[in-house]
Amino acid sequence: MSPSSPTASHRARRGEPLRPGATVGVLGGGQLGRMMAIEARRMGYRIVVLDPDARCPTGQFADEVVIGALTDVDAALELAGQVDVVTLDTEHVPADVLDRIDEVVPVRPRGAIFRTIQDRQSQKQFLDRLGLPQTPWAPVDDAAGPASALAAVGLPAILKVRTAGYDGKGQVRIEHADAAAAAWERVGHRPSVVERVVPFVREVSVILARGVGGDVAIYPLAENVHRHHILHTTRAPAPMPEARRAHAETIARTIAEALDHVGVMAVELFELPDGQLLVNEIAPRTHNSGHYTLGACATSQFEQHVRAVCGLPLGDPRALTGAVMLNLIGDLWRDGPPRWDPVLAHPEARLHLYGKLAPAPGRKMGHVVLLDDDTDRALRHAEAMLAALTPA
Ligand code: AMP
Repeated sequence: MSPSSPTASHRARRGEPLRPGATVGVLGGGQLGRMMAIEARRMGYRIVVLDPDARCPTGQFADEVVIGALTDVDAALELAGQVDVVTLDTEHVPADVLDRIDEVVPVRPRGAIFRTIQDRQSQKQFLDRLGLPQTPWAPVDDAAGPASALAAVGLPAILKVRTAGYDGKGQVRIEHADAAAAAWERVGHRPSVVERVVPFVREVSVILARGVGGDVAIYPLAENVHRHHILHTTRAPAPMPEARRAHAETIARTIAEALDHVGVMAVELFELPDGQLLVNEIAPRTHNSGHYTLGACATSQFEQHVRAVCGLPLGDPRALTGAVMLNLIGDLWRDGPPRWDPVLAHPEARLHLYGKLAPAPGRKMGHVVLLDDDTDRALRHAEAMLAALTPA
């Protein structure tokens, strides 16, 4: 059934390329896996995905679906037996599961990276060890923790659970010291970190890819606006003085090299009023703020990830045009699927829908990429489009 062979994955482990015809396994069947599967299949690769739902966004474009939870070692090993290399569409796969898979086929990026990244505390300790700039932070391990952590970092602050929080989930903002105990209560007394709220003027992200041989390709800098903790728009290239942009790229490259990363990675940064850059978060995978690359760049982040994990030379990351990405959130589906006329009428807008069967408020359902060298104009068009799509 599968053309994969042990010899192909053994060769992959030695760093030899997996050429089109090989099979890529994907853990998690969300939109990132979906867009990767589309690009991979275009290039002639086969895709097998592990997800609890056969009709998940990636499953709709996969050759095979192994049905199971991402914590299910047996299901993961079943996937491993069918593929030449394994990668992920989410960082929320237990590192122990990745280690077990790696006994059968190479996992890229490797499991140790997820051990460092999945836990906010170990991610922050890793950044401190590298001497990279980040928000002042302190650990919170017990009931006495919040008060002493707040004393260390200052107010206002955000309490963030160490594991399994994303898009603002498991986070509580603390304005006054006497709110510390209530915040700790709200996160269910889970091990957390406290971060000082920084007065950033802008959020940007560096999307890069690192190949098996250590080569690095860096995409044009992305400027991100969040609403309700969810990415709203990305503009690229982000206007930024050259030296500062180079500094952002150096930070991201340092992280990728220190982790010995293979694949696409996003490093989210806060830009302060004085131009300082602080690392907010590392995502060792393709990223929402890199969606613009599909359409706007010579090689999309999804093709690039396939190239990297298959040990191919990296593609050219250069922008062919400026672009703005607008996320389409489930709230737009309140009265049923939106009519897409406002998007379709715009010749430079590319509509992406993820095939999610159950729209829900706050759920990422799709996005639009507007191709335009004038990114200010594209941002205005994106907002007008959103207004036209929003239920009355
Ligand atoms: P996170 O899940 O940690 O990336 O946080 C989600 C969003 O909350 C970020 O993109 C910021 O907009 C905001 N945020 C998180 N941490 C901080 C902070 N220390 N200071 C200011 N804003 C923050």
